[in-house]
Parts: sequence; C-alpha cells; structure tokens
Amino acid sequence: MELLKERIRKDGVIKEGNVLKVDNFLNHQMDVELFNEIGKEFKRRFADVKVDRILTIEASGIGIAAITAQYFHVPVVFAKKSQSINLDGTMLSAQIESFTHKRRYEVIVASRFLNPGENVLIIDDFLANGCAALGLCEIVEAAHANVAGIGIVIEKGFQHGGKLLRDKGLRVESLAIVDGMDAATQTVQFRE
Ligand code: 5GP
Repeated sequence: MELLKERIRKDGVIKEGNVLKVDNFLNHQMDVELFNEIGKEFKRRFADVKVDRILTIEASGIGIAAITAQYFHVPVVFAKKSQSINLDGTMLSAQIESFTHKRRYEVIVASRFLNPGENVLIIDDFLANGCAALGLCEIVEAAHANVAGIGIVIEKGFQHGGKLLRDKGLRVESLAIVDGMDAATQTVQFRE
C-alpha cells in the first residue's frame, strides 16, 4: 500500500533494537483518514473471504480494527491484556510474549463474544515474531471458530512471524512489509 509506505518513510522513526516507531500516525496519534484507507485495503484484500467478526488486541489494534470493521459490517472484539473486575463469564486466554516490552502477559477474551463456527479476521498493527497473532489464533481455536485471515498494517519481514504464520497455512495480508531498516541513516527498505 503505497500511501502507507510513503507515510512510514516520512514519519517513521527507527530505534535501535529493530523497533519502528510510528507514534505520529498509528500507535499514539491516529490518522483516521489513513485508517480509512487501511480499512478499505483490508476489505479489498479479503474480499473473497467470509468474515463474521474481527478480533484484535489492545491497545494499538483497536482503532485500526474498528475502522476496518465498518467496511466488513461486522463487530470487533479486542483481547484484553489484564484481568479486569468487569470481565465475567467464561474466558478464553493465551500467553503472549511482547516484542516491544520484552515480557510475557496473558490476553483474555470472553467466550460469549466468539461463537463456534464463526470466521474471524485477526487485525493488528505490527507483525514481528508472530506471538501476538499466534495468541489470537489460539483464542479463536479455543472458541471452536476459524481464522479467516490475518491482516497486518506493518510486517517486519526480517523477523520470523510472517513465515511462521504462513507455514501454518494461515492467510496473512500485510499492507507494508519492511525488509530492512537502518537506525543510523533512518532508512527503511520495503518489499515490492
Ligand atoms: P509479535 O508478537 O509479532 O512479535 O509483535 C507484534 C506486537 O508487538 C504488535 O502488536 C506491536 O504492538 C508490537 N511491535 C512489534 N514490533 C514493533 C515495532 O517495530 N514497532 C512498534 N511500534 N510495535 C511493534
């Protein structure tokens, strides 16, 4: 998605440790017009797929998933990162290792928001080692639902998450794939 790549080139900040900061338009301040284009592009790429529900993970996935859902006309559910007193009923959970925070945490979804047999599209902002996406897949499987596909805004192609998921036969659509980045020169190399 050229518009997204241009925006990453313009506003992305490359940090040491292979972290791409996109706080200016995706992860902190949100460019809703860009999110709209992202939502349309996910709809275009998954046009042939039946989607009953979108699943994402708090916090950065929520804005993207909510706007994307307007193009699919389906509800959005987000996995919560901590046990809250507001959670009741049966919970589905998975352990996720955070790439950016370097710690493990549990994510939880109330089972009443994922029905058996449903087709669930997973949406997230980044794909690095694939832990977040795999955790969400585990939750979908635990609900006896199907993963319809995985839509990622930025995939870091030099980390193994994309290969891991595709090797499992999952359909992954990434709107921008970064094959390399250099903190010294602040340059990003995209896959064509
Ligand atoms: P994974 O679980 O695939 O290793 O990492 C995915 C999660 O880590 C995403 O949900 C995202 O929040 C975060 N993440 C991974 N790499 C980056 C990065 O380079 N920049 C930012 N902003 N977030 C990242």
